[in-house]
Amino acid sequence: MAKYYMPEGMRYATLEERKEFYTAEFSLSKMAQWFEKCIGKVNFAVIIGRHTRIYPEKYREDADTTIIIDEHQSLSQVQNQILEFLPESAYYDRNVYDENDRKTGQELAFDLDPENITCPIHGSLADKMKRHQGLSFCALELQMVKEQAIRLYEYLEKEFSETRIVYSGRGFHIHVFDPEAYTLSDKKRRELARTVKAKGFGIDEWVTAGEMRLIRLPYSLHGLVSRIVLPVEKSELERFNPVVDARCIPKFLGEAFTS
Ligand SMILES: [Zn+2]
Repeated sequence: MAKYYMPEGMRYATLEERKEFYTAEFSLSKMAQWFEKCIGKVNFAVIIGRHTRIYPEKYREDADTTIIIDEHQSLSQVQNQILEFLPESAYYDRNVYDENDRKTGQELAFDLDPENITCPIHGSLADKMKRHQGLSFCALELQMVKEQAIRLYEYLEKEFSETRIVYSGRGFHIHVFDPEAYTLSDKKRRELARTVKAKGFGIDEWVTAGEMRLIRLPYSLHGLVSRIVLPVEKSELERFNPVVDARCIPKFLGEAFTS
């Protein structure tokens, strides 16, 4: 298996580091603020060790599984479950359900990842896949994906008013909280995904079309790169550098990398 490459300072988090982060640093109040905009009950999900192969021994069998967390009364119960699994990744479900657990809509989102960027050095996603480096990315790809996030935000702003940008740990997510976006038909979502893709944005169409309903949880730890998933203002995006920005660097990395 080929080695993953990542911008300097980014690396897998250990189990002990995940534990330290979710015990002491994970902000339930910031997370609660994020979900103020969401309608209805939110379900969560974790993946323990699919990509990193780092997992608590007792969860060896479930390391690859997407584990849904839907039985919780509070965010602190969600935190407790995350501490039980110590996952590499945490997500929430964009689907909105009624009291009978019937789906009534879905938050619209756009997922821009550096692997979807064709890099002058590392080539296209197909090239990277051929070398088994589908999750690798470089500083240049990170810069390019940031520029795409700015442009995509500006494009979406013309149509929607409640848009937010999140640094996902690798690339960027754009979330749309306009009520009418929740009720878009599957057909409309597919069309929107295709339109945005045709404009040259390196989005993951499955996320926008709705087939992939999970999205990375803001303020959680991205365990492949040891970065905190962070909502960022559009106005600061130009200067934003997740390799050194203190707000997305967990304490366990120390201050070595922060600017
Ligand atoms: Zn590259």
